[in-house]
Formats: sequence, structure tokens, C-alpha cells
Amino acid sequence: MRTFDAVVVGGGPAGATAATDLARQGFSVLLLDRAGRIKPCGGAVPPRLMEEFEIPEALLVARVTAARMVAPSDRRVDMPIVGGYIGMVDRDTFDEWLRARAAEAGATRRDGSFVRLDHDAQGRCIVRFRAAQTHRDAADDAADEAVQARLVIGADGARSEVARQAIAGAERGRFVFAYHEIVQAPTDPGAGFEAACCQVHYKGALSPDFYGWVFPHGETVSVGTGSADKGFSLRGAVSALRREAALAGMPTLRREGAPIPMKPLPRWDNGRDVLVAGDAAGVVAPASGEGIYYAMASGRMAAEAGVQMLRTGDPRALRLARRRFMRAHGRVFWILGILQHFWYRSDGRRERFVGICRDRDVQQLTFDAYMHKRLVRARPMAHVRIFFKDLAHLLGLATA
Ligand SMILES: Cc1cc2nc3c(=O)[nH]c(=O)nc-3n(C[C@H](O)[C@H](O)[C@H](O)COP(=O)(O)OP(=O)(O)OC[C@H]3O[C@@H](n4cnc5c(N)ncnc54)[C@H](O)[C@@H]3O)c2cc1C
Repeated sequence: MRTFDAVVVGGGPAGATAATDLARQGFSVLLLDRAGRIKPCGGAVPPRLMEEFEIPEALLVARVTAARMVAPSDRRVDMPIVGGYIGMVDRDTFDEWLRARAAEAGATRRDGSFVRLDHDAQGRCIVRFRAAQTHRDAADDAADEAVQARLVIGADGARSEVARQAIAGAERGRFVFAYHEIVQAPTDPGAGFEAACCQVHYKGALSPDFYGWVFPHGETVSVGTGSADKGFSLRGAVSALRREAALAGMPTLRREGAPIPMKPLPRWDNGRDVLVAGDAAGVVAPASGEGIYYAMASGRMAAEAGVQMLRTGDPRALRLARRRFMRAHGRVFWILGILQHFWYRSDGRRERFVGICRDRDVQQLTFDAYMHKRLVRARPMAHVRIFFKDLAHLLGLATA
């Protein structure tokens, strides 16, 4: 049986990043991905992701330079993105580029589905998987393959099978279900759609607890919404949103949905030889649902922790991944969690929330935090002003 230093299950942003980093450090890596399905995703990424993970600009299919917030009353607040942009990537080409980079760095790629983790009599970890049809002999249909791994990184997305099998408490994750339609972009945009402006709709009718979006992707547009309420009709809401955005008559290219985790798992490792990253670890920002940057950041931290574990043989090193991630991003997740809990509750609150977005300080801080992934400390008075304005809105003292 072939042995790898690391087997990375899942070749999305988290897994491909972890595999690249481990291979670049000289470790033998197997990157296993269930190929053939495009990850349902709005594809919005911040400039920080492009720089930190050295992504070529050519992978951006659009650069958005303004965000339109739409309130339940239909009031619109346009927020220009000063000194930056929101990038849009198509996940079929973006993810494939990341996987190809992992292979260039030395990782072995396999198309196949993870089946099971076992430990042999000597305590070595065995990863069993089913190779994709093209790699299989017709007569060998039922045979699973197995490799030995000193370290397994589970980056197989939300409701991760690796996490379910290996990580205590993984089944207790919280999710929003998100659904979107990929629509052909109009060549002659009407009043409801602009190619360089993303729309964020805060209306109970479009989502009772999240938001609806219209993200331009050059030749296509992602129109979607999400909710944790299983009885809510996401398809009905997207139809309504398409009508609002003057996209109802455009051809639909794909309809797809997937769960988005809303809370980091309390543990990311099994104390032995398995570590999870990305959606598998639950790292998507509350309120925004932004997960690509955090998947890549946690993939990198998983690789760093994995390198220490492989070099020292000490499994406690695996804990470093979660610790470092929460130190870097835990505060932002906490603030966004409160924001979602408070402002996404009723149309009255959503109306006020959109009103707050008119404020220049709020606009500046929101985009700084999004684009650069840090809370800007350079302007303390802006924070103080926002705090009091926020308080006034919460108490209903301000008219939005
Ligand atoms: C509708 C929707 C819209 C979104 N919009 C945005 C957005 O605009 N911006 C943003 O930042 N985030 C967005 N997100 C969140 C973002 O898509 C995820 O957070 C991100 O993709 C997580 O990356 P990942 O690598 O952890 O997991 P994934 O991207 O889910 O990758 C997991 C990989 O594992 C593979 N896999 C799964 N199971 C197995 C198995 N058993 N064996 C082998 N391989 C397996 C899959 O094929 C996949 O390639 C959105 C999510 C949804 C559902």
C-alpha cells in the first residue's frame, strides 16, 4: 500500500491550499477530490485573498466597485467601494486552477470519493476511497482503493464525511441553506442590473434570516438567497429577486444549492492524525456567508500545523490550526454573529440596518474589514461614532 505524508480529502479552496503548502515544503501529498461538480457559490472574493494566496488577476471574471443595499421598503443605499473592489471568480475555473497549482507543487492528484478512515493493527491511518469511473476497470467496479497516511486533512466541505467520522462534536454544526441560479447576463442591462454593482437585498420576503444577492460575473450573474428556515421557499424567493433585478427573462444556465456552515467547530482535530479545514471546520463568516477566503486561510493554517506534527511526531501540534485561526479571525466572526442575530430578525430592523449603511464611516469600515480582513484601528473616532449611531438605531432614537 502506498504511503503519503498527508492525504488531503477535498480539492476546493481549503484542500487545494493545504495540499500546495504541504507539497511546497517537500512532503508527499495525495489530493483526493470528487471531481465533476461545480461548487455552488456566489464567487465573491476580497483583494486580500488575491494577494495573500497569489491568485492571478486573470481569474477574476468581474470587478465590482459598488454595493447596493436594498431595504424592505425598497429604499436603496449605494455604497461605493473606495480604494478597492470585490472580485468575482467562477468556481469551476478557480478551483481547477488551485488544484493544478497543488499538482505543480508536487501533490499527486486523484479523482475519487472518500469512503472511510481506518487504523491498522500498528495504529497507522488508512484512507479508503472509490476512484472515479475513468480510473476504474469495469470489472473492478466495487473495489475501493486504500492508501496509508501520516496525516489526513479533511477539506471535503460542509457536512464533511471526514469530520463526521473522526472529529468529536462535528455533527452539531449550524447551517444556512443557500440556493442560487446562474443566469446569462443581459448585454443591454435594464434599470435593475448593473455589471459593476453587486446587490444585497435585506427583505423578509427574500430571506427571513439571511439575505438575497445579485452578483455580476461578466457574462453571467449569480442570483441567490439563503435561510436556515427549512420551510422557506428559496426557489420562490430567487424568482422574485430575478424579477426585481430585471433578470427574469434571461436564460437560466444552472440551478444549484448547498449548505453553508455558520459556526466554527469546537475541535478541528482528533488528537492523533486528522485535522479539518474550510467548510468542514465550519469557518464561514456569519452575516455575510463569506467562506472562500476563510477556507484558504484555514487550509494554510492546517498545513502549518500539519508540518509541525509531521516534523515532531507530536499530535498536539494539530491544535495550532484552530487556535491560530480563531486568534486571527475569531473577533470578526463574533461581531458578525451579533450583527446577524440582531439586524436580520425583522423587516423593521432590516430597514434600519440599511439606513445605517448610508453612513460614510460605516461604509469605509465595512469595506476595509472585508477587503483587508482586519478591523482598522487607525480611526478610533470612527468606531466611537459608529458605536453611538448604532446604539441610537438599536434604541429607535434615530430615524433611518
Ligand atoms: C450558494 C452559495 C453561495 C456562496 N457564495 C459565496 C461567496 O460569494 N463568497 C464566498 O467567499 N463564499 C461563498 N460561499 C461559501 C463558499 O462557497 C465556501 O465557504 C467555500 O467553498 C468553502 O471551501 P472549502 O474548500 O472548505 O469547501 P468546498 O468548496 O465545498 O470544497 C470541498 C471539496 O471537497 C470535495 N469533496 C466533498 N466530498 C468529498 C468526498 N467524499 N471525497 C472526495 N472529495 C470530496 C468536493 O468535490 C469539493 O471540491 C457560498 C456558498 C454557497 C452554498
